[in-house]
Amino acid sequence: MTVDKHALRARYRQERDKRLRPDGNDQYQRLTGRFASYADDPYTPRTPREPKNDHVTVAFVGGGFAGLVTGARLKEAGVADVRIVEKGGDFGGTWYWNRYPGAQCDTASFVYMPLLEELGHMPTEKYAHAPEILEHCRRIGKHYGLYDNALFHTEVTGLEWDDERALWTVTTDRGDRFTARFVAMGVGPLHVPKLPGIPGIDSFAGHSFHTSRWDYDYTGGDPAGAPMDRLAGRRVAVIGTGATAVQCVPHLARSCAELYVFQRTPSSVDVRDNRPTDPEWFAGIATPGWQRRWLENFTANQAGGGADEDLVMDGWTDIARRVRDRIEALPQDARTVERMLEAFEDSDFEKMEEIRARVDALVRDPETAGRLKAWYRQLCKRPCFHDAYLQAFNLPGVHLVDTDGKGVERVTETGVVAAGREYEVDCVIYASGFEVGTDYTRRAGYDVTGRDGVRLSAYWDEGMRTLHGTHVHGFPNVFIVQPTQGANLLSNIPHNLTESGRTIATIVKHALDHGHVRVEASEQAEDAWMELLTSSPGSLLGGADCTPGYYNNEGQDPGRKGWLSVGYPLGATAYFAYLEQWRTSGDFAGLDFT
Ligand code: NDP
Repeated sequence: MTVDKHALRARYRQERDKRLRPDGNDQYQRLTGRFASYADDPYTPRTPREPKNDHVTVAFVGGGFAGLVTGARLKEAGVADVRIVEKGGDFGGTWYWNRYPGAQCDTASFVYMPLLEELGHMPTEKYAHAPEILEHCRRIGKHYGLYDNALFHTEVTGLEWDDERALWTVTTDRGDRFTARFVAMGVGPLHVPKLPGIPGIDSFAGHSFHTSRWDYDYTGGDPAGAPMDRLAGRRVAVIGTGATAVQCVPHLARSCAELYVFQRTPSSVDVRDNRPTDPEWFAGIATPGWQRRWLENFTANQAGGGADEDLVMDGWTDIARRVRDRIEALPQDARTVERMLEAFEDSDFEKMEEIRARVDALVRDPETAGRLKAWYRQLCKRPCFHDAYLQAFNLPGVHLVDTDGKGVERVTETGVVAAGREYEVDCVIYASGFEVGTDYTRRAGYDVTGRDGVRLSAYWDEGMRTLHGTHVHGFPNVFIVQPTQGANLLSNIPHNLTESGRTIATIVKHALDHGHVRVEASEQAEDAWMELLTSSPGSLLGGADCTPGYYNNEGQDPGRKGWLSVGYPLGATAYFAYLEQWRTSGDFAGLDFT
């Protein structure tokens, strides 16, 4: 395949420039105040309960994968009283909220779903659908007894350190005020739904909801894919064409009379190729230690580290393999940074040309096909994989409303306005994503008050500072579960979380076994870690040349804070190896136990 690189670069720039806007993240609004009804939990009724005023050894904020895997490892380590505090009505985190039709994981289930081996679960498909993942979360909760002490429909409002007693006080919006020796936080990167900051959303007289609060009472159907019979005869608008819309549009397309898909930027949509798991094949691979082997193999394929084979073979390892093949084709003495970046770009051009050709092959109307093509590098925006999304635009009632990078203008009492035209609809579904790129404590919804009354929001005012992405000096007995400043393996977040769970459980057990009441990263160790991060090559996702999106802070220079959103300089495989060695050495260099 020959590509005109110069022309492609120019086209990418043109498409980016068209979309750059001065308000960046501020273009969005939260589902608060008069929009709060869009944010209510439609899945589980809230039940009254008495506030808690007791004490636990470990409190964990967040009941998604992070809380579940950490809770599991703590239980395995013999820590009996772990309390997970969760704003949803059950465990699951993102999989609790995102029940929209067609939701499924994009990374192969065998590495995406945590603790499969421990629980003896075989994912039924290569890319499991949301109900199975949610059920797996509940399975983890039950298996490890994490339900016993959990508080659901409860949002933490503050964490405050009492240095004299070496305890945290946890307060919540349900009137709880209890103490914990240790606190861990796994609040997730994408959990605060956002709406476009356009006028009129609240004036719409029809029905509206955000995809992470799917209203099956209105649409009919269910998360397992039953037909949405109540949409028969209805006109529906979907705003947004990111990973969520790509998965739910095919289902809506089959159910509504008219579906209007409002697009600002097309997603790149590559082959999905999902298939049921063959139990015989699975029995062959699921030998002792299998999931860890698979996780390590996936990560080695992504981040380097000597993988001779690709066990997982999903869309992510495909991207990495293609880039690696290009680089390995260079003669040894030509492997300069410049030539390697060039090889990466070549591989990208080739892949994106394939993805654009796929649109032409699958979408009958050439004009619609033209508008569905993504003109940017594949890792500028979240790559998508689907085998029914593009075809949905061949159905007679499905209309792509491309806004040429401008987005919808406003919502009226009766419909949605784009490019000066109003589209009358009965229902507006916001597939407009989640808040990213704002401060940690803003997204968490509470602040953390550490030693000497120092607040985490103030301590991180100029950006995140940690040791290993987990520990923060001045905040004893706190653990943060998230990938940044650690492995930063964004293609499979659960691997980061699983390793963090292991680390936290090891440290807590060590402290309890030795009668220590405080664990804190030393200032020196944190400084050294931050210094080490300065040599990080940064992330391959996003970048200043990319069309705006949450991968590149909506196209705005994130300044120092963005620079700090990096991982271990030698990559994820090296980070996990380093951490394993650090954990098992028993020294925990950089942590002070008292
Ligand atoms: P995204 O933030 O990816 O997408 C939001 C969409 O809304 C974009 O297409 C955006 O356009 C569009 N939008 C915003 N404002 C306007 C406007 N004014 N007019 C028209 N369109 C507008 O959110 P998603 O919920 O799709 O996905 C969020 C993330 O969640 C994913 O990136 C992924 O990490 C994760 N996810 C994972 C899945 C999986 O693993 N299977 C499935 C779904 C989500 P623009 O691109 O121009 O900003």
